[in-house]
Amino acid sequence: MASLCPYCKDRELNPTRIEQSLPALGCEHCGGTLLSLVSYRHWRERQPAQDDATADAPIEVKDTPLALQCPKCDRFMSKFRLTADTRNHVDLCVHCDEVWLDNGEWHLIDRLALAGSLTRVFTQPWQLHVRHVEAERRAEERWADRLGDDYDRARELQTWLRDNPNARDVLTYLQQVLDDLPR
Ligand SMILES: [Zn+2]
Ligand SMILES: [Zn+2]
Repeated sequence: MASLCPYCKDRELNPTRIEQSLPALGCEHCGGTLLSLVSYRHWRERQPAQDDATADAPIEVKDTPLALQCPKCDRFMSKFRLTADTRNHVDLCVHCDEVWLDNGEWHLIDRLALAGSLTRVFTQPWQLHVRHVEAERRAEERWADRLGDDYDRARELQTWLRDNPNARDVLTYLQQVLDDLPR
Protein backbone atom coordinates (compact mmCIF):
# COMPACT_ATOMS: atom_id res chain seq x y z
CA MET A 1 0.00 0.00 0.00
CA ALA A 2 1.27 3.45 -0.88
CA SER A 3 2.25 5.80 1.95
CA LEU A 4 0.17 8.95 2.36
CA CYS A 5 1.56 12.43 2.87
CA PRO A 6 1.51 13.20 6.63
CA TYR A 7 0.79 16.86 5.86
CA CYS A 8 -1.85 16.64 3.13
CA LYS A 9 -3.14 13.32 4.50
CA ASP A 10 -5.00 12.34 1.30
CA ARG A 11 -2.12 12.48 -1.19
CA GLU A 12 0.14 9.57 -2.02
CA LEU A 13 3.87 9.78 -1.67
CA ASN A 14 5.81 8.89 -4.80
CA PRO A 15 9.46 7.98 -5.35
CA THR A 16 11.60 11.07 -5.88
CA ARG A 17 15.18 12.20 -5.35
CA ILE A 18 16.45 14.81 -2.91
CA GLU A 19 19.91 14.70 -4.43
CA GLN A 20 21.04 12.80 -7.48
CA SER A 21 21.79 9.67 -5.47
CA LEU A 22 19.50 10.25 -2.50
CA PRO A 23 16.09 8.60 -3.04
CA ALA A 24 13.05 9.56 -0.98
CA LEU A 25 9.26 9.69 -1.20
CA GLY A 26 7.74 13.02 -2.20
CA CYS A 27 4.33 14.68 -2.14
CA GLU A 28 3.71 16.54 -5.38
CA HIS A 29 1.01 18.62 -3.71
CA CYS A 30 2.85 20.20 -0.72
CA GLY A 31 6.40 19.52 -1.88
CA GLY A 32 7.26 17.68 1.34
CA THR A 33 9.59 14.69 1.37
CA LEU A 34 9.85 11.55 3.46
CA LEU A 35 13.46 10.55 3.84
CA SER A 36 14.59 7.26 5.34
CA LEU A 37 17.66 7.63 7.52
CA VAL A 38 18.86 4.33 6.09
CA SER A 39 18.96 5.94 2.63
CA TYR A 40 20.44 9.08 4.11
CA ARG A 41 23.30 7.26 5.85
CA HIS A 42 23.99 5.25 2.73
CA TRP A 43 24.15 8.46 0.67
CA ARG A 44 26.22 10.25 3.31
CA GLU A 45 28.88 7.54 3.33
CA ARG A 46 29.53 8.11 -0.35
CA GLN A 47 29.80 11.90 -0.06
CA PRO A 48 33.19 13.59 0.01
CA ALA A 49 34.02 15.15 3.39
CA GLN A 50 32.30 18.52 3.67
CA ASP A 51 33.56 21.73 5.04
CA ASP A 52 31.04 22.85 7.65
CA ALA A 53 32.28 26.44 7.40
CA THR A 54 30.55 27.04 4.07
CA ALA A 55 27.16 27.86 5.57
CA ASP A 56 25.36 30.80 3.97
CA ALA A 57 22.84 32.97 5.72
CA PRO A 58 19.77 30.91 6.62
CA ILE A 59 16.75 31.25 4.38
CA GLU A 60 13.17 31.28 5.55
CA VAL A 61 11.31 28.11 4.71
CA LYS A 62 7.75 27.28 5.69
CA ASP A 63 7.60 25.03 8.74
CA THR A 64 4.72 22.78 9.77
CA PRO A 65 3.75 23.52 13.36
CA LEU A 66 1.31 20.60 13.41
CA ALA A 67 2.16 17.26 14.94
CA LEU A 68 2.57 14.85 12.05
CA GLN A 69 1.90 11.15 11.98
CA CYS A 70 4.47 8.86 10.43
CA PRO A 71 3.28 7.62 7.01
CA LYS A 72 4.80 4.21 7.73
CA CYS A 73 3.55 3.39 11.24
CA ASP A 74 0.99 6.12 12.05
CA ARG A 75 2.73 7.08 15.29
CA PHE A 76 3.34 10.76 16.02
CA MET A 77 6.65 12.08 14.81
CA SER A 78 9.01 14.08 17.06
CA LYS A 79 10.08 17.61 16.16
CA PHE A 80 13.75 18.59 16.24
CA ARG A 81 14.90 22.18 15.92
CA LEU A 82 17.60 22.55 13.24
CA THR A 83 19.55 25.44 14.76
CA ALA A 84 18.94 28.40 17.05
CA ASP A 85 19.05 30.69 13.98
CA THR A 86 16.03 29.22 12.25
CA ARG A 87 12.54 28.42 13.51
CA ASN A 88 12.46 25.26 11.38
CA HIS A 89 12.01 21.80 12.79
CA VAL A 90 12.41 18.47 11.10
CA ASP A 91 10.06 15.67 12.05
CA LEU A 92 11.46 12.24 12.84
CA CYS A 93 9.68 8.98 13.50
CA VAL A 94 11.94 7.44 16.12
CA HIS A 95 10.42 4.01 15.46
CA CYS A 96 10.97 3.90 11.69
CA ASP A 97 13.90 6.34 11.36
CA GLU A 98 11.90 8.25 8.75
CA VAL A 99 12.33 12.01 8.46
CA TRP A 100 9.71 14.38 7.12
CA LEU A 101 11.08 17.46 5.36
CA ASP A 102 8.70 20.29 4.48
CA ASN A 103 9.00 21.88 1.06
CA GLY A 104 12.39 23.59 0.77
CA GLU A 105 13.72 22.20 4.04
CA TRP A 106 16.43 20.10 2.45
CA HIS A 107 17.66 23.27 0.74
CA LEU A 108 17.66 25.01 4.12
CA ILE A 109 19.55 22.09 5.70
CA ASP A 110 22.09 22.36 2.89
CA ARG A 111 22.44 26.12 3.43
CA LEU A 112 23.00 25.53 7.12
CA ALA A 113 25.81 23.10 6.16
CA LEU A 114 23.88 20.31 7.88
CA ALA A 115 23.34 18.10 4.82
CA GLY A 116 26.36 16.03 5.81
CA SER A 117 25.44 15.78 9.48
CA LEU A 118 21.65 15.64 9.59
CA THR A 119 21.60 12.79 12.12
CA ARG A 120 23.41 15.02 14.63
CA VAL A 121 20.30 17.21 14.79
CA PHE A 122 18.47 14.27 16.41
CA THR A 123 20.96 13.92 19.26
CA GLN A 124 20.43 15.26 22.76
CA PRO A 125 23.66 17.35 22.84
CA TRP A 126 22.59 19.12 19.66
CA GLN A 127 19.11 19.91 20.96
CA LEU A 128 20.52 21.05 24.32
CA HIS A 129 22.92 23.35 22.51
CA VAL A 130 20.08 24.87 20.45
CA ARG A 131 18.09 25.50 23.64
CA HIS A 132 21.12 26.98 25.38
CA VAL A 133 21.80 29.44 22.53
CA GLU A 134 18.08 30.36 22.50
CA ALA A 135 18.04 31.00 26.26
CA GLU A 136 21.13 33.21 26.03
CA ARG A 137 19.54 35.15 23.20
CA ARG A 138 16.34 35.69 25.17
CA ALA A 139 18.31 36.87 28.21
CA GLU A 140 20.17 39.32 25.96
CA GLU A 141 16.86 40.61 24.57
CA ARG A 142 15.59 41.22 28.10
CA TRP A 143 18.70 43.26 28.85
CA ALA A 144 18.22 45.26 25.65
CA ASP A 145 14.66 46.08 26.78
CA ARG A 146 15.71 46.99 30.27
CA LEU A 147 18.66 49.18 29.26
CA GLY A 148 16.99 50.82 26.28
CA ASP A 149 19.23 53.47 24.70
CA ASP A 150 22.13 52.50 26.96
CA TYR A 151 22.21 48.92 25.75
CA ASP A 152 24.65 49.39 22.83
CA ARG A 153 27.07 51.27 25.01
CA ALA A 154 26.82 48.70 27.81
CA ARG A 155 27.40 45.89 25.33
CA GLU A 156 30.48 47.62 23.96
CA LEU A 157 31.80 47.99 27.47
CA GLN A 158 31.08 44.33 28.18
CA THR A 159 32.96 43.22 25.03
CA TRP A 160 35.89 45.43 25.98
CA LEU A 161 35.97 44.05 29.51
CA ARG A 162 35.73 40.43 28.38
CA ASP A 163 39.13 40.50 26.64
CA ASN A 164 40.68 42.82 29.16
CA PRO A 165 43.34 41.34 31.47
CA ASN A 166 42.52 44.11 34.00
CA ALA A 167 38.79 43.37 33.94
CA ARG A 168 38.68 42.48 37.64
CA ASP A 169 40.37 45.73 38.68
CA VAL A 170 38.23 47.84 36.34
CA LEU A 171 35.07 46.26 37.77
CA THR A 172 36.25 46.82 41.33
CA TYR A 173 36.85 50.46 40.44
CA LEU A 174 33.41 50.72 38.85
CA GLN A 175 31.86 49.08 41.90
CA GLN A 176 32.39 52.43 43.68
CA VAL A 177 29.79 53.98 41.37
CA LEU A 178 27.31 51.28 42.37
CA ASP A 179 28.13 51.75 46.08
CA ASP A 180 27.55 55.50 45.83
CA LEU A 181 24.15 55.17 44.20
CA PRO A 182 21.23 56.11 46.41
CA ARG A 183 19.27 53.03 47.47
ZN1 LIG B 1 1.62 16.69 0.88
ZN1 LIG C 1 7.03 5.42 11.90
